[in-house]
Amino acid sequence: MNRDCIFCRIASGAVPAAPIYQSAEVMAIRDINPQAPTHLLIMPREHVSGILQVDPDSPIWRAMLRAVHEIAGSAQVADGFRLVINNGSNGGQTVKHLHMHMLGGRALMWPPG
Ligand code: 5GP
Ligand code: ZN
Repeated sequence: MNRDCIFCRIASGAVPAAPIYQSAEVMAIRDINPQAPTHLLIMPREHVSGILQVDPDSPIWRAMLRAVHEIAGSAQVADGFRLVINNGSNGGQTVKHLHMHMLGGRALMWPPG
């Protein structure tokens, strides 16, 4: 746990949140500044700063994709969704704790900005 990391503080319960999905390894919460009717953040409980800091064979990936599968069965993303991982400054990453955005509930534009 990184005490300066907002997502660690949420994952540890130090900052209250209403998780919409939880497993031993992963949690999903609603984004505080939603960019779509459904905008979820799926993250490992363990602090890892970004995609390149996790071994490609880590069970974290399986756990995060399991969360996607579980959430995909809910009505709020019934018509499709988009997964995004922003990485590094040019990638638009603002919170340095790995997380995947799951966006849905409306038609999303392409290409992204
Ligand atoms: P990034 O820009 O790193 O890809 O995404 C970080 C996301 O975390 C942003 O969409 C931002 O709105 C969200 N966020 C930042 N702080 C909080 C918070 O305290 N609670 C929640 N639920 N979301 C947050
Ligand atoms: Zn963290």
